[in-house]
Amino acid sequence: MKDGAIVRVPLIAGNWKMFKTATEAEETTSQLIRLVSDVENVEIMIAPPFTALSIVAGLTKDSRVDLGAQNLHWAKEGAFTGEISAAMLVSAGCKYVIVGHSERRQYFGETDHTVNQKIHAASLSGLVPILCVGETEMQRDEKKTFSVLDKQIENGLEGLTFDALHPLVVAYEPVWAIGTGKSATPDQVQEVHLYLRNLIEKMFGNILAKATRILYGGSVKPDNVSELMALPDVDGALVGGASLQADSFSKIIHF
Ligand code: PEP
Repeated sequence: MKDGAIVRVPLIAGNWKMFKTATEAEETTSQLIRLVSDVENVEIMIAPPFTALSIVAGLTKDSRVDLGAQNLHWAKEGAFTGEISAAMLVSAGCKYVIVGHSERRQYFGETDHTVNQKIHAASLSGLVPILCVGETEMQRDEKKTFSVLDKQIENGLEGLTFDALHPLVVAYEPVWAIGTGKSATPDQVQEVHLYLRNLIEKMFGNILAKATRILYGGSVKPDNVSELMALPDVDGALVGGASLQADSFSKIIHF
């Protein structure tokens, strides 16, 4: 996607959530690498569970596919049983980290404050954060979509600077569209993406707003990806269910 002098290379990212053993991840990754070897001008990322990072890192090292993690802790290290630090992700080969996915907000008590701490930790360690934002169905019905997004972006990015956030990826994921088969309409998606870009411009200026990739997530499938990717402010997709099979994810990547 081109916007003035700044070119935003599309990013198609797969979130495998709590699916796949290391062996299953190895198999899907190998298939995917073969299927996308012809792809140009699209960045590809998969975020397997932590237990598969190492095996997927080995496979993707010299491929078109980058590695991401689904979460991190904000502390450098410490007595935080069950948690993983940014440095651990970097040493495991990760380039990206998903932060503030709605499932983490909904089931694991993640707040805009903890999201903010995680974004600070990610950017300090050189990981590219993928900040997930989005409204619930009730919030949309009550016409609160934009006030919810304001809060998630303003609080989630509080205290960060242009340098820390360059590069930044934001994923707009309406909660009502995740895993439901009910994607937002192109009009709804473009309206929100433009709103988010303008908000980033107000907070961090025009250059960061133009450079930030804004992904759409929520029931992206091979048959709806091209109309979404054709929208001027959509710079990629964050894909859950349809990223679990190499063939469907490859079709999305070949949008
Ligand atoms: C997601 O989990 O980020 C997601 C968008 O899931 P799905 O594609 O399955 O709706």
